[in-house]
Parts: sequence; structure tokens; C-alpha cells
Amino acid sequence: LGRSRGTDFFRIGDQLTDEERDYWNRARHFVEDEVLPVINDHWERADFPRDLVRRLGELGLVGDGIEGYGCPPMSPIATGLIHLELHRGDGSLGTFLGVQAGLAMQSIAMLGSEEQKQRWLPRMARVEALGAFALTEPTHGSDSVALETTARREGDTWVIDGTKKWIGNGTVADVVVVWARDVGDGQVKGFLVSRDDPGYDARRIDGKGSLRSVWQAEITLTGVRVAESDRLPGAESFKDTARVLAGTRNAVAWGALGHATAAYDIAVGYCSERTQFGKPLVSFQIVQDKLVKMLAEVCSMQLYCLRLGRLIEDGQLTDTIAALAKMNNTRKAREVIAIARDLLGGNGILLDFHVMRHMADMEALHTYEGTETIQTLIVGRDITGVGAFV
Ligand code: FAD
Repeated sequence: LGRSRGTDFFRIGDQLTDEERDYWNRARHFVEDEVLPVINDHWERADFPRDLVRRLGELGLVGDGIEGYGCPPMSPIATGLIHLELHRGDGSLGTFLGVQAGLAMQSIAMLGSEEQKQRWLPRMARVEALGAFALTEPTHGSDSVALETTARREGDTWVIDGTKKWIGNGTVADVVVVWARDVGDGQVKGFLVSRDDPGYDARRIDGKGSLRSVWQAEITLTGVRVAESDRLPGAESFKDTARVLAGTRNAVAWGALGHATAAYDIAVGYCSERTQFGKPLVSFQIVQDKLVKMLAEVCSMQLYCLRLGRLIEDGQLTDTIAALAKMNNTRKAREVIAIARDLLGGNGILLDFHVMRHMADMEALHTYEGTETIQTLIVGRDITGVGAFV
């Protein structure tokens, strides 16, 4: 998988349908022709590449497998391959897709009314409208289930108060899925808020050393009024929020594979050309050992991803499988990238060689959508029957 057919040792490419291969190629060509030549500059300036984001819509890559509503028809594997390729190019772009399609669009598709789906999904698939997903709060990250943002019903209107942190697209989104606790029945519900709504105030989080070309926000909601028709009718409790998150963890597993594939490719290329002690680096046994370790991890991540995709297709994704895959692939990707960084020597810390950007971006994937530790504890609870984190 990835740019180099040199990582497809288990012939995963043979398992793909023509349609999946087509999505893969489209995403790969976009990354190679349009993203890689310009992305370091965006990253360095912490600039959100609006043109590239719009191209995702034009190329029909946004929809996350949602059926109908103007979303391009794609299997879970095709969706995963798009995430792989975007992250192989740039973590910010991949993260944008995760927020737009995996979190915001899927919340509406899975939990929204027919009118909400018709209104938002076609425009979001074309990236004419941007989405955000506001769950995390300054004091509730891993325990977002304990969120404190409140929703109070007044006739046909809800009044929302609270603060959110780390919300991707929060300063630019046309529709923000805000999760708040109904003061009436105590349950967590979802609301479609516009960034133009009075009382919605978003401040961009600056100074990031990771995912610099996609923006997150800290949001204050002060008496924001939302019509009952803008409440997600299918979101009855936090369990429904968690259903959206289980799907997106799959995308993070694919994204991590993209970062690892990029790092491996760069390391093989670099070590073939770089000469020390009169020989190319690839001719030293320890260098070969490092490259092979990287390849072995990349291959195991591919196998996880392939099975994830087919299990989703069969409706058999569980929270445990999603957590195991996210945990495994993000952990392996960090290891692979660290070896690549080492093999590039001093050049490994230069933006021009890309590995440092992948390393920095992987740190965010390690944490978002539930940290490695929380994923581990979700799996631990399943295999032992003992919950060790709540
Ligand atoms: P904390 O929960 O404070 O965790 C700190 C440390 O404590 C971690 O190592 C964690 O593993 C550990 N820890 C916590 N609880 C336990 C425990 N019980 N046992 C052992 N260790 C524990 N959120 C959104 O809602 N929407 C978004 O679009 C979004 N985008 C994001 C983008 C980026 C770049 C980042 C960094 C975050 C984003 N998030 C978003 C938030 C993200 O999901 C949270 O950062 C994540 O869930 C972790 O929460 P936290 O940062 O508050 O860390």
C-alpha cells in the first residue's frame, strides 16, 4: 500500500475491487501532484490550504461511505485508502477529512433528520460547506462523557452554554455539531450550530507543533439559541456520540498507516542514496535491520486495515476492534517514524525531508479520538471484564 508498491508484500492490492483501486489512485495522484509540492510551506506558515480542501470535494473523495445525499459511493476500504493517502501526504489534510466527513457528516448521516441530511450532506460532500464536531471541553478530554456544556429547552428552542476545546474547523465551519447535556433529562444530545449564531465565539488555537495546516478552536457558547429542528433527533444519549467515534477510529488507523508508509519510503530512498564510510547506508547490516523492522510494522498495519474495512462492510465493527486498531496502528506508526528520523541523520529534522512533519503530526493522531492509553483500557476492559479507567 502507499506510493511504493514496495510495501505490498502481502499482496493486499490484489484484494481490492476496481472501484477501490480507482479511489486509491485518485487520492494518490492528488497527493503527489498537488499536495506534496506545496504542503511544507503551508505547514510552516500554519496556513489552512483552502484550495486543496476544495479539491477534495471536486475529486469526489469526501463522503466516508455515506449512502446517497450527494456522497460519492465508496466502500469502507476505499474510504480507508483515501485516509491513508491523504496522511501519507499530510496529516493536516487527512485530519480535515476526518473532521469533515468522519465526524461532522457522519453525525448528521447517522443521527440527523431527513431534512438535516438533505440540507447539509450534499454541500459538505462537495466541500462547499465545512463541518465541525464539538465534543471535547477544556476540562473533559478522555472523560468527555462527563461534558458540562448544557442545553436548556425553552419551547421550540434550546439554549446552549459551555466551552469546547480542540475543535477542528471551529473557526471556519458552516455547521458545528455541538454535544451538550440536556438539563431536563441529563442526557447528552447533539445540536447543529452555526458559527454566525449570536453567542458562538471561536478562537483559533495557535502555537501548535503538530498538524499546523489545519485549525482547531476553543469555543465559548453563551446563550446560543438553537431551534428544535436543528437538534439531531437520533442522538439520545452519549452512546450515540460514541457510535460516531467508533467509526472514525478506523480512519485514524488508516491515517497512521499513511504516515508510516511515507516514513518508510523516505527512509529507503534516503539510505539508498546517502553514502558514509565509502558505501551507501543500505549496505550496512544495522541499517537493513532497521528498514526491515519498519517494513514489518507497515505490513502488519496494512493487514489490520484491510480486515477493519471488511468487518465494517459486514457490519461487524465493535468498539474493541476499533480501539485495538487505533491503538496498534498509532503506536506502530510512531515507532516507524522514529526509525526513519534516525536514519536520515541531521537531515531528519529538516522540513524539506518531510519525516519531521510526519513525526510531529503523528503526535496528534496518538492523542485525538481517544488517546493510546484510553484505547488500551477499552480493550483491557473487554479481555478482563474489569473496567480500569472509570
Ligand atoms: P487528557 O484526557 O487530559 O489526558 C492526558 C493524559 O492522561 C493522556 O496521556 C491520557 O491517556 C491520560 N489519561 C486520561 N485518563 C486516564 C485514565 N483513566 N487512566 C490512565 N491514563 C489516563 N475533540 C473534539 O471534540 N473535536 C475535534 O475536532 C478534535 N480535534 C482535535 C485535534 C487535535 C490536534 C487534538 C490534539 C485534539 C482534538 N480533539 C478534538 C480532542 C481530543 O479528542 C482530546 O485531546 C483527547 O481525547 C484527549 O483529551 P485531553 O487532551 O483532554 O487529554
